Amino acid sequence: MKNIFPALLALTMIASCQTKYYSMDDFLSVSKIDAHFHLNAESPALTDLAKADNFQLVTVNVDNGVRPTETQYQMALYQVNQSPATVEFVSVFNLKHWDSVGWANEAIGMLERSFRDGALGIKLWKSIGMVYKDSSGNFIMIDDPKFDPVIRYVIDQDKTVLGHLGEPKNCWLPLDQMTVNNDRNYFEEHPQYHMFLHPDYPSYEDQINARDRFLERNPDMRFVAAHLASLEWDVDELAKRFDRFPNMAADMAARICHLQFQSKADREKVRNFFIKYQDRLIYGTDGGIGPSDDPEEARQSTHEKWLEDWKYFTTDDTMSVWEVNGEFRGLKLPADVIDKVYRTNAIKWFKIPEGGE
Ligand SMILES: [Zn+2]
Repeated sequence: MKNIFPALLALTMIASCQTKYYSMDDFLSVSKIDAHFHLNAESPALTDLAKADNFQLVTVNVDNGVRPTETQYQMALYQVNQSPATVEFVSVFNLKHWDSVGWANEAIGMLERSFRDGALGIKLWKSIGMVYKDSSGNFIMIDDPKFDPVIRYVIDQDKTVLGHLGEPKNCWLPLDQMTVNNDRNYFEEHPQYHMFLHPDYPSYEDQINARDRFLERNPDMRFVAAHLASLEWDVDELAKRFDRFPNMAADMAARICHLQFQSKADREKVRNFFIKYQDRLIYGTDGGIGPSDDPEEARQSTHEKWLEDWKYFTTDDTMSVWEVNGEFRGLKLPADVIDKVYRTNAIKWFKIPEGGE
C-alpha cells in the first residue's frame, strides 16, 4: 500500500487555508449574544433557554409608556441577579421634567444609579422625535443641545448610547405598500406610531437627519444604532453612515427580515455588506417575555427565531420566513464574521465584561 500520509498532510494544509464556515450543528457550541432583548417578567424561561442555547442576553429598558421604567429597571436588576453570567442590561432616563432647569441633573442622577448598578449604557427611544413635545408644542428631537450634558456624562463614564430613533421607512407608507409583514402587523396594531396617518409629525427624513446631526455633535460617543439605524431598507444607506460615523455600530433587532427582503433581490450585495462592515454589526432580536406571556410559548418561539437567524447567517440554504413574502438564500458568512456579529462586536461596543458578572 502506498504511503498516503504526505497527501493527507497536503490536503489538511489546503483545508486550513480555506475559509471556515459554521453549520446548523454548530449552533449550540458557539458562544453567542442576543444584544437587544426585553426581559419584562420574573420567569426564568428565557434565561434558562439562553443558557441551554449558549446565549448571553442584553435586556433593554425602554421609555415607551407601556410599563413604568422603574418597573423595567427593577426587573432587569432581578434578572441580572438571578443569572449574572447570562444577563446584562441597558437603562433609560426620562423626559418628564424636560422644561424645568433641573432636567439634565435629574436625568444624570438616574444614570448615576444605573451605572452603579452595572448598566452597560442607556437607551434612547423613538419617543424622542415622535411623542415628547416641549412647552411650546414642538417635538423634542435628539439633536437638541439640551441633551448635551446628559450625553457628555454617558461618554465620560465610558458607557454606550443605544439609540432607537425614527422608525422603519415602512412606517411612513400605507399598510399595503410596506415591504415586510411584521411592520404591517405592528403598525396596524399601533396606529399611534404609524406615521403615514400623522402627516403633521416629523417626516422620515427629519428623524434620520436629527439622528445624524446628533452623531455629528457627539463624535466621541460610542453609539449603537438599534434596528439597523432605521436604514433597514437599504444596506447602502447604512454603509454611508458607517463610513461617516466611525463611532457608530448597529444592531439588527427585529430588522433581520429587511436584510432577507434585500437578499431576495441581491444576496451578494447584502453578503458583501456584512463582510465589509463585520466589525460594526451586532446580532439582536428584540425578543423577550412580558408579564402576561406564556413562558413555554416564549421559550419555543425564541428558540425557533434564534435557529432561523442562525440558518440565514451561516448556511446558503433557500429559506422563507413569515415576515417576508417569497424565498431567499442564507448568507453563509465566514465563521470569523459570525463570531464578531454574534459575540465580540457586542462585547466591544457595549464593553461587556468577558465571562459575565
Ligand atoms: Zn427593543
